[in-house]
Amino acid sequence: MHGLGSEHRLNRMDTKDGLIAAIGNTPLIRMETLSEETGCEILGKAEFMNPGGSVKDRAAWWMVREAEKSGALKPGGTVVEGTAGNTGIGLLHVCNSRGYDAVIYMPDNQSQEKIDLLGTLGAEVRVVPTVPYRDEMNFQKQAGRYADTLENAVWANQFDNIANRLAHYESTGPEIWAQTNGKLDAFTCSVGTGGTLAGISRYLKDQSQDVRVVLADPFGSALYNWVKTGKAEMTPGPSITEGIGNSRITENLVGTAIDDAVQIPDQAMVDMVYRMLHKDGWFFGSSTGINLCAAVEIAKKMGPGHTIVTMLCDDGTKYQSRLFNSEFLAEKNLTVS
Ligand code: PMP
Repeated sequence: MHGLGSEHRLNRMDTKDGLIAAIGNTPLIRMETLSEETGCEILGKAEFMNPGGSVKDRAAWWMVREAEKSGALKPGGTVVEGTAGNTGIGLLHVCNSRGYDAVIYMPDNQSQEKIDLLGTLGAEVRVVPTVPYRDEMNFQKQAGRYADTLENAVWANQFDNIANRLAHYESTGPEIWAQTNGKLDAFTCSVGTGGTLAGISRYLKDQSQDVRVVLADPFGSALYNWVKTGKAEMTPGPSITEGIGNSRITENLVGTAIDDAVQIPDQAMVDMVYRMLHKDGWFFGSSTGINLCAAVEIAKKMGPGHTIVTMLCDDGTKYQSRLFNSEFLAEKNLTVS
């Protein structure tokens, strides 16, 4: 038997034909207590259920798929990326399943846990000095240059490679539309590369201009101001969130319709994540905390009776030493109530 698992089946109970077919088609989960409190339907897309445990599996597969399609990546090739987190994990799963090598550049300010995890998954990890994006020795730029020196290799380039956004235009957006029967009033999520927000916004707006798209930003990022004023000016930070916020407007974000932005302080994110853990039973990472805070803020602004969708990007296991470490939180003047 073959061809069992079409990528776009919406019934989670379907058998999945291997790793690639197991990416996406995640459940949309009603957040019970948040919905009851606001009188809105607050729905979260369970991206932590992807094989690599995060929303970035979709981008990883689409970037590899587009490179295969264009002929840039041929059997036995190598994928190079500069990443410290979920994109690397997603790429390793996809590369392992399709017979590619993976070389991951990471800045040296990342935890040993992350370096070890990518190594365990089979990456050649190259840890390089932490310097800003404008510096030629920036980890992403080094990844790009290294890919150029190899035969049959690609630089995934998640920030500016619009195959990342396409993943969400072709998979997450249609899934959300189908799962809500087209009845949603707002979509919100935080932004790292912008692939998630841009792809989903574009798809939803193509179906209905009435769906409100709101960018959720942590402090220490320029995206809130960019949406509000058109100028990408940094707000004071830093934030303890990981994988989100940006100082620049990526190719994935450019030209995307975004109606509004909200800014979520770290303390509100911490309160949300711990509340979800202790009262609702969920174990979420920091970007999911930001997303749920934003969804509640939008629900309060819109009033009861609205449907708001957001992303449950990953779970809390990678954040044990920071978000789920009381000493770390105390150093950052954050409290757990
Ligand atoms: N949440 C987490 C946990 C992530 O790793 C990322 C990716 N950096 C995001 C959110 C943001 O997703 P995107 O890159 O599509 O904007």
